[in-house]
Amino acid sequence: MFTKDKMMNSIPFLAAPNYAYTQAWVEALQAAMPSEKIVAFSDLSEAERVTCQVAIVANPDPAQLQQLPQLEWVHSVWAGVERLVADLAHTDLKVVRLVDPQLARTMAEAVLTWVLYLHREIPAYSKQQIDKKWQARPYVKAQQRTVGLLGLGALGEAAAHSLLQAGFSVCAWSATEKKIPGMTCFSGEDSLPAMLAKTDILVCLLPLTPKTQGLVDAPLLAQLPPGASLINFARGAIVNDTDLLQALDQNHLSHAVLDVFTLEPLPESAWQWQHPQVTVLPHCSAPTDRDTASLIVADNIGRYRATGELPQTVNMRRGY
Ligand code: NAP
Repeated sequence: MFTKDKMMNSIPFLAAPNYAYTQAWVEALQAAMPSEKIVAFSDLSEAERVTCQVAIVANPDPAQLQQLPQLEWVHSVWAGVERLVADLAHTDLKVVRLVDPQLARTMAEAVLTWVLYLHREIPAYSKQQIDKKWQARPYVKAQQRTVGLLGLGALGEAAAHSLLQAGFSVCAWSATEKKIPGMTCFSGEDSLPAMLAKTDILVCLLPLTPKTQGLVDAPLLAQLPPGASLINFARGAIVNDTDLLQALDQNHLSHAVLDVFTLEPLPESAWQWQHPQVTVLPHCSAPTDRDTASLIVADNIGRYRATGELPQTVNMRRGY
């Protein structure tokens, strides 16, 4: 129940053990919320610990969250919350994830960058340079290249707009029906084959949930036209690595740009490092911006303090 006497309790920041940026987050959040007291979990007094209703989190240790008996909700500073969902599904805690227009712009920029990398065949030209081979490849216009987006949420929609602006043919797949002028929208499992059949560059921007885990597997990849490529900027476990390797080795898939992996950092022994048709990125496509994210969190907490209302929370059953 929302009461005014609960209004000024300290807000702890909880992160994974040994997280290097706890102090930087505390400072950025404190600057964005001067009327609140933001405290690293390790600096929280016993009196503060038993009264806080909201915590700000970055991959927190769930055992530490259990030490906050009045906690009602957590605000993640990350957009992807599969770990929080797994850790907290059995509790009554509500989870709010980061939805930041700056994050969406950063992801849209990354998607456009790597789509252009594939569209203008930079992997092939890099190989030609190694082979000292002087040969212009036939030019394909952007509008002749179809980019298929898996996921049309906060990040997918921003990516779609920047791709449309760059002249690509764009289609996208989501769980529920959507309409965006200038592009073809598909929704639901039954419609996925139709999108895959016309996709030259498949971009994954889905959340990791029980339904999306391993979704990009051999049968899905087989539905892409020969020579298609894949960009995974979502979560590693959405792609079946064994099936991906096979599709690349068989040249059904020409190239994969992978920013996310089932195990991160990617182990030195992983095949992706060496594969000539793979570009490995170190989970850098869209980092959270501490300053803009802190302002978003501050806005959400400010509204909660004023009205008792939470921003849109994660649907724990569906997983995003
Ligand atoms: P979001 O707003 O929740 O959007 C998710 C989209 O996926 C929605 O369009 C949703 O459909 C669709 N979807 C979910 N499950 C589906 C299913 N089973 N079938 C079809 N469509 C499905 O999430 P977001 O903010 O765009 O972020 C997406 C993901 O990007 C995050 O979960 C995170 O893992 C990842 N991410 C990566 C980085 C990085 O640096 N690599 C940075 C930030 C985020 P509906 O709209 O119909 O619900």
